[in-house]
Amino acid sequence: MPTSSFYPAINIPQVDLWGLMFEIEKKEKFPHDKVIYRDAITRRSYTYAGVKDAAMSFGYALISSWSWKKGDVMTIVSPNNIDMPAIIYGTLFAGGVVSPANPSYSVDELAFQLQDSGTTAIATSKSCLSTVTAAAQKIGLCLDRIILLGDERDPDGQFQHFDQIAAPPVSPHISRVSVNPLTDLAFLVYSSGTTGLPKGVMLSHQNIVANVLMVASSVGTSYSWKDDKLLGILPFYHIYGLTCLIHQPLHRGIQLVVIQNFDLELFLGTIEKEKITFTYLAPPVLVKLATSPLGKKYDLTSLRMATSGAAPLTQSLVAAVHKRLGIKINQAYGLSETSPITHTQPWGEWYDSVGSVGKMMPSLTAKYMSSDGDEVADGESGELYLKGPSIFKGYWKNRQATEDSFTEDGYFRTGDVGFQDHNHNFYITDRVKELIKFNGYQVAPAELEGLLIAHPSIVDVAVFGVDMGHTEVPKAFVVLAEGVEESPNLANEIIDWMNSKVVHYKRLRGGIQFLDHIPKSAAGKILRKVLKEMVQQELIAK
Ligand code: AMP
Repeated sequence: MPTSSFYPAINIPQVDLWGLMFEIEKKEKFPHDKVIYRDAITRRSYTYAGVKDAAMSFGYALISSWSWKKGDVMTIVSPNNIDMPAIIYGTLFAGGVVSPANPSYSVDELAFQLQDSGTTAIATSKSCLSTVTAAAQKIGLCLDRIILLGDERDPDGQFQHFDQIAAPPVSPHISRVSVNPLTDLAFLVYSSGTTGLPKGVMLSHQNIVANVLMVASSVGTSYSWKDDKLLGILPFYHIYGLTCLIHQPLHRGIQLVVIQNFDLELFLGTIEKEKITFTYLAPPVLVKLATSPLGKKYDLTSLRMATSGAAPLTQSLVAAVHKRLGIKINQAYGLSETSPITHTQPWGEWYDSVGSVGKMMPSLTAKYMSSDGDEVADGESGELYLKGPSIFKGYWKNRQATEDSFTEDGYFRTGDVGFQDHNHNFYITDRVKELIKFNGYQVAPAELEGLLIAHPSIVDVAVFGVDMGHTEVPKAFVVLAEGVEESPNLANEIIDWMNSKVVHYKRLRGGIQFLDHIPKSAAGKILRKVLKEMVQQELIAK
């Protein structure tokens, strides 16, 4: 029997994101001159009304001067910046779809996303401009479709700044493009899903509206615009930052202080200076809080709570940070495909269920399935399958991957394994998908395998994630071409060659192991279970 949420189902109005944020009546009434986004260093800020005005002007400009069409894709490539919400909502105003990309991507990684998503225009910061122009040229995108955001301008004047485009006056004759919240896309974020290369995850307006309301009506009741101030360190380009740091604060009037690039001292100093009460983070930051002497240098007493997500969080880490700094930490779980949050520990019981990812959000149902495709008995471990309004529409232009991810009765296969206890708390115990997570970032083995196989010394390869406790690291098993001798020098040469091609978190931190052959099934599929056993035995032998 499918399991319903512990929370009562909620009413999700059929509105798009613009409607939710700026048109329908809000439950929580906050002043429209309330500052929502503030930069931690420059102190530049946007009020709620300011975001709306800038977004509207930008949306008007897209429609009137750029001949923007419904469904056109705006890729945003930038470190966190307070201009991003206005660009996102301006694009949605014009009926567009936003595809955020990692600002550290190499030219090839970015070109892949631009090409795959069919990008129409790019908003970027000066620091990413050379990569963005090279990637745009690679796919034949006209450079006049690139605009700048943030504090730096183009000294040569080749690229317009977002605030030049978003300048009033706006024509009263242009209204926002109407969209169907159930079927029209708001975001295209990239994830490898359970297998293969990164794919565009199609998130509709309704998906995001639902997730914002699910959180607001459950764990979100523990904080409000009157009492709380959020600190934004998660990257906005990942769905976790996108929903929790851009949409949630705008919907609820909660101020977000934005840090462009994570730095521990800046993070701690900002908590002290701004009297931050709440932050979202990932386990690697908690490791730093548990161990760094800097943690004791700053007054962190305003920080009531922190939510950790994107990767497994151990009980010992929660206990260590709480003992050292007195901060309450709960855990959330979710995926790009689920908009993202599907489970969170309620604040009232954060310590009683430590180690769990908490209770399922309202209006979702779950099934726990065995590898044979049968539902497991209550309380037993199984793969988590989910259904509900925040579950994505499928993979962009990839019908096969979409069909493989959903059951006939509409459940999404998460690829994560766990069980639910008698208090409705969900525990994750394993992952049956290929995905590797380094410090919360996705690494797709198939992508690294595809690059490594092009090395002249390699004839076969498999990449696997080695569990290092608080994170996983990618390790490559490599079969060398005939006549090529294995040696530590060759391993280092391959690692350096590979590292020059990928963003920092995809580096082969787990090293290289030479094998005579890669264990494969009769159908030629890599037997990752065998690799897992090999790694475990090696760790035991050490
Ligand atoms: P992403 O799409 O990048 O958000 O990655 C989603 C995946 O991250 C999930 O399918 C899990 O494997 C992992 N994940 C996210 N949150 C947690 C968590 N709290 N504990 C364990 N794994 C998590």
